[in-house]
Amino acid sequence: MIYLKTDEEIELMRVANRLVGATLAEVAKNIAVGVTSLQLDKIAEEFIRDHGAIPLFKGYNGFPNALCISINENVVHGIPGAYQLKEGDVVSVDCGAKINGYCGDSAYTFEVGEVAPEVKKLLQTTKEALYVGISNAVEGKRVGDIGNAIQTYCESRGYGVVRELVGHGIGKDMHEAPEVPNYGKKGYGPLLKSGMCIAIEPMINRGTKNVKFEKDKWTVRTADRKPSAHFEHTVAIRPGKADILSTFDLIDQVINRRDAL
Ligand code: MG
Ligand code: MG
Repeated sequence: MIYLKTDEEIELMRVANRLVGATLAEVAKNIAVGVTSLQLDKIAEEFIRDHGAIPLFKGYNGFPNALCISINENVVHGIPGAYQLKEGDVVSVDCGAKINGYCGDSAYTFEVGEVAPEVKKLLQTTKEALYVGISNAVEGKRVGDIGNAIQTYCESRGYGVVRELVGHGIGKDMHEAPEVPNYGKKGYGPLLKSGMCIAIEPMINRGTKNVKFEKDKWTVRTADRKPSAHFEHTVAIRPGKADILSTFDLIDQVINRRDAL
């Protein structure tokens, strides 16, 4: 069952997703060598709760924290802990929040200090692939058009597109129908209709597309231990152009300010 949202519901979704964007910007401010991923998680949880929202991931199927923090070869679902960030790391931070009964979900991969050029390129390509996917998230197209666009963009540049994890519908629940894979065939899959809200989230690897699940039952890592990147937006399907409900604007402000120093 795919739920189409009313305009009022989409505005509520925007509130939740903007809060997620603001939370990720708080995380961005605190990313530095020596900081632990658990410290970042605490900052995010406090920020979310201070704004009257609930961290969506905490307690979800028993997940222990507010953020998923996946470093370097970890793709997604990393559990925050005592690991201290070091120069050259890439840190994927996935954040979800619920407020007024609606969910926000967005992710961004951050660089710690100077990152190797080929890893920088991976992040850049994954972010671009997200927007390539979004450009296909319009009324009248199909879910397969989104996946095909992301897959083609990344594979033609030599990257691996993770198959085991996918984007999803989102609304009152974090995970609603349909599934939104980052691969697929043009013209296949559920029809996109105005009012559908979906999270598009390419998970792209520097090497093989294959992943392994760690013993903690959560962390997903690349099979070849090469780095991975993850960017995610929640969008509403509209005629002609998707309405991006989450935002990287606040994150980019933090990063640009830092680069200007
Ligand atoms: Mg997410
Ligand atoms: Mg998601």
